[in-house]
Amino acid sequence: MDFELNETQLLIQKTARDFVERTLLPVAAELDKTERFPRAELQALADLGMMGVNLPTALGGAEAGVVSYSLAMSEVARGCASTAVTMAVTNMVGEVINAFGTDAQREAHIPKLTSGEYAAGSFALSEPEAGSDPGSMRTVARRDGDSFVLDGPKQWITSGSHAGVFVVWARTGELSAGTKAISCFLVEGGADGLRIGKHEDKLGLRASNTVSLSFEGVRVPASALLGEMNGGFKIAMMALDGGRIGISCQAIGIARACIEESVAYAKDRKQFDKAIAEFQGIQWKLADMQTELDAAHLLAMRAAWLKEQSRVFSREASMAKVFATETANRIANKAVQIHGGYGYIREFAAERHLRDARVTTIYEGTSEVQRIVIARSVLS
Ligand SMILES: Cc1cc2nc3c(=O)[nH]c(=O)nc-3n(C[C@H](O)[C@H](O)[C@H](O)COP(=O)(O)OP(=O)(O)OC[C@H]3O[C@@H](n4cnc5c(N)ncnc54)[C@H](O)[C@@H]3O)c2cc1C
Repeated sequence: MDFELNETQLLIQKTARDFVERTLLPVAAELDKTERFPRAELQALADLGMMGVNLPTALGGAEAGVVSYSLAMSEVARGCASTAVTMAVTNMVGEVINAFGTDAQREAHIPKLTSGEYAAGSFALSEPEAGSDPGSMRTVARRDGDSFVLDGPKQWITSGSHAGVFVVWARTGELSAGTKAISCFLVEGGADGLRIGKHEDKLGLRASNTVSLSFEGVRVPASALLGEMNGGFKIAMMALDGGRIGISCQAIGIARACIEESVAYAKDRKQFDKAIAEFQGIQWKLADMQTELDAAHLLAMRAAWLKEQSRVFSREASMAKVFATETANRIANKAVQIHGGYGYIREFAAERHLRDARVTTIYEGTSEVQRIVIARSVLS
């Protein structure tokens, strides 16, 4: 067994880390406060190959693999979790198109995602009435000659106001057919009839863009079908398996930032004539935080490695996601506790990390949904 990173993985990790130190950390608090969409920062990440870490170089990607992507994701999330989720969804959209698209679809969209010409890609699965149960979606795609016409609502769409391309799921048969009558489509940003709803006012990830969408007679050519007719649900599940590794690493990055800030603060802050780091009550918190973080990292790396080997990784991705995201929440809470009252105000980053960590147990499948996936596998 080899725990060492190879040269490519080390290079990607260092590239992301340097970018975070130089460019992202100095603006992260401002991004959170002003809710500025990090367009320039995303472009800089694209220039570094971070919008297609696991995509072929022929399409502008870095072709550096899933482990490299996961390392990059946790580095970027350490700097700014909002930028990280935007990067995560864009990479996921590129990977879905690469895995299931035709050559024409790949060539039309992936170079624009990897180069930053598209500010982002969006993944439009959830609906107001269909979250954990996307098989109950209502958005429909009706065949009309050489086109499909899409109608219906989508909810919580990351980067929806900025995306150059949306991967959209819609019902292509009776509701009673459930997941067997769902297909997947590529819809370009700015398509006629695609209405962008209001930007959600969120607890955390405030610089990421989250909107509802309304498809009102959006006409796309038949060539916009991604994968097979009525084969869309499988695409969604496979994409989410991979996406869950990305969100694990987002949570790991947030947790790392919490530990780094807690250590610095605990060494600096004095009470009872001592640095609080000298108190065993603080030391044990830091010990637990670091141990849980390492365990989360190892689970995420195992899932990433399995995916990179083209092995089955669904159970491992869910295990990594549920553990890493719940760990990040525990760690962020402890970081606030270590900061005392200063952890509760905006001047210190611990407060932002706690807000940013919260959503990670909710999106790309809640913790409850991950436990369903894991339990099914354990019981089978
Ligand atoms: C900031 C943000 C960004 C997002 N970005 C995207 C995006 O880009 N694209 C996209 O498609 N979606 C996105 N989502 C949607 C996200 O994936 C959903 O919110 C999530 O899947 C949960 O769905 P829901 O909110 O409808 O909750 P519900 O499914 O209504 O769940 C409510 C509660 O019930 C629990 N529950 C549901 N079913 C079960 C069950 N069978 N057993 C036990 N408990 C259960 C859930 O775990 C949860 O605790 C985003 C969400 C947020 C908040």
